[in-house]
Amino acid sequence: VSSPVFIDSGVTLVESNASDEMVVRAARVSTGSAAKPFEDGGAQLIGYLMRERHGSPFEHGMFTFHVTAPLFVAAQWMRHRAGHSYNMESGRYSEAGPEFYAGTAWRTQTGKPGHYEFKFLDGPAVQVAERIYRESVTAAWTAYQNLLLRGVAKEQARMVLPESKMTSFYWTCNPRSLMHFLSLRATLAAQTDIATLAFDVFDAFANVMPVTAREFIINSQVAP
Ligand SMILES: Cc1cc2nc3c(=O)[nH]c(=O)nc-3n(C[C@H](O)[C@H](O)[C@H](O)COP(=O)(O)OP(=O)(O)OC[C@H]3O[C@@H](n4cnc5c(N)ncnc54)[C@H](O)[C@@H]3O)c2cc1C
Repeated sequence: VSSPVFIDSGVTLVESNASDEMVVRAARVSTGSAAKPFEDGGAQLIGYLMRERHGSPFEHGMFTFHVTAPLFVAAQWMRHRAGHSYNMESGRYSEAGPEFYAGTAWRTQTGKPGHYEFKFLDGPAVQVAERIYRESVTAAWTAYQNLLLRGVAKEQARMVLPESKMTSFYWTCNPRSLMHFLSLRATLAAQTDIATLAFDVFDAFANVMPVTAREFIINSQVAP
């Protein structure tokens, strides 16, 4: 029986086929000028489309990311349905690895749903929380392995694993659906554990579509 391994989450861009130019060309189809030279970088037109929320020209393109995250973050992520595709690691076909979420700084939560205030734990309480967490993960991981040793199917043995179990998935979206995701998750209102990854997604997006990303921010991060 092995011990659990605590790791961080991460997101990497696997491939993309998207550009600011494509947004401009798609928008110009409506006036029959899609082939017009792309001279000004598209800032004016993209800014207009973003402001007026003419969203469909932003649907021509794709980004595929590989995400490694705890199950609870994956659950939040996969709530995004429109224009998103997912393929996820299986707990039926493959035996779970020993990876569990290292976690972010322990914090307290006060106030009402939607208006919570978070403060970092300090002093000995931090070590106590960490110890309780790691002990419970170790117990769950041991139980999982023991069930497998007794011949229980992987698809059932996983029932003992906690939400901090790491998983991985491929996520494909288009620039518009990506911005909708960012509007809700690359923000301090979202849980830190998904927001940290969403900020990395924003960086990758801004590398590929710098003008669109800038206009998105100028438009108060409201997706078109
Ligand atoms: C801070 C935060 C807290 C949250 N808390 C909770 C919670 O407590 N419980 C919970 O269940 N969820 C919660 N969620 C998830 C949230 O309700 C959404 O499911 C999630 O953010 C995805 O947003 P979406 O539906 O707009 O995105 P998508 O599913 O990608 O949809 C994009 C847009 O398409 C349209 N659309 C998609 N599907 C439909 C449909 N069936 N009918 C009509 N229009 C549709 C809507 O305009 C929608 O905004 C939370 C999300 C955040 C960011």
